[in-house]
Amino acid sequence: MTPRILDGKALAARLRRDLATRVAALDYLPRLVVILVGDDPASAVYVRNKARAAAACGIAGETVRLAAGTSEAELLDRIGALNRDPAVDAILVQLPLPRAIRPERVTEAIDPAKDVDGFHPLNAGLLALGRPALVPCTPAGVMRLLAEAGVALGGARAVVLGRSMIVGRPLAALLTAADATVTLAHSRSRDLPALCREAEVLVAAVGRAEMVRGGWVREGAVVIDVGINRLADGRLAGDVAFAECLPRARAITPVPGGVGPMTIALLLENTLAAARARRPAPEGCHHPRGTTTTGERA
Ligand code: NAP
Repeated sequence: MTPRILDGKALAARLRRDLATRVAALDYLPRLVVILVGDDPASAVYVRNKARAAAACGIAGETVRLAAGTSEAELLDRIGALNRDPAVDAILVQLPLPRAIRPERVTEAIDPAKDVDGFHPLNAGLLALGRPALVPCTPAGVMRLLAEAGVALGGARAVVLGRSMIVGRPLAALLTAADATVTLAHSRSRDLPALCREAEVLVAAVGRAEMVRGGWVREGAVVIDVGINRLADGRLAGDVAFAECLPRARAITPVPGGVGPMTIALLLENTLAAARARRPAPEGCHHPRGTTTTGERA
């Protein structure tokens, strides 16, 4: 069996091209506003990548940069104004936030109809009920990768390592909705290697470099590595020891170039979905293409 390396970069590029075609057919410009609080360099890179990818698809991507000392009340005010702005389809607040700001207050403040990260309790609740609306981008990207790879999920044993609200929990809900039998594991789970060896589909989202070793992987499993960890020497590593796991896997994602690019593609998909749901076709808000009403050029 030759293991298949799942190329998230190529799939994401294809999704973005398809999205650009669908956006070009609209008579309005979907508008995404990303709020960046503070000067975390990694967050600045993520936000720039999101704005660039949006622009390449014909989506107006505006970045609102707020100082590290911004108070929670000020941030909530900005979100409130964007919620009320009929020309804004999608709002995303880049995480992590400075310590003085409670992330749950921020996610609760975003209009669920514009919540393209899918973190609002209403969207999280709908997903938990099996009625997904706006779904968190990384788990949605994982599901697309699995679908593209032709992985049959019905009845499959799936193990998800990590139970964060951003990745593990929503992914477990999506896999359950796709009829997999799902175990959601975390730092208090016992005997992770044995648990993982049960998995036909194994997803690692823990933030621990190369924690999943070759011996944890069942022969013929599909291994999805969500982790992005910066090693001491500056290299990026996933949560999966790729070289050890590759020979045992039927299919596996690399880091970088696996799940990461899918996250941005699904953010843009969510932006288009939010815009479509908010704007009655065929009329809607008309913006001159390629500009935003405030902020930077998309
Ligand atoms: P997080 O909020 O820190 O959650 C980590 C989860 O992993 C928690 O549920 C934690 O368990 C569990 N965990 C930590 N150490 C563990 C261990 N030794 N054994 C078992 N479980 C353990 O992280 P996150 O936001 O979900 O992100 C996870 C990873 O994915 C990170 O590397 C992050 O950079 C990456 N990520 C990538 C993308 C992408 O686009 N590719 C997007 C988001 C995140 P407890 O709940 O018990 O503490």
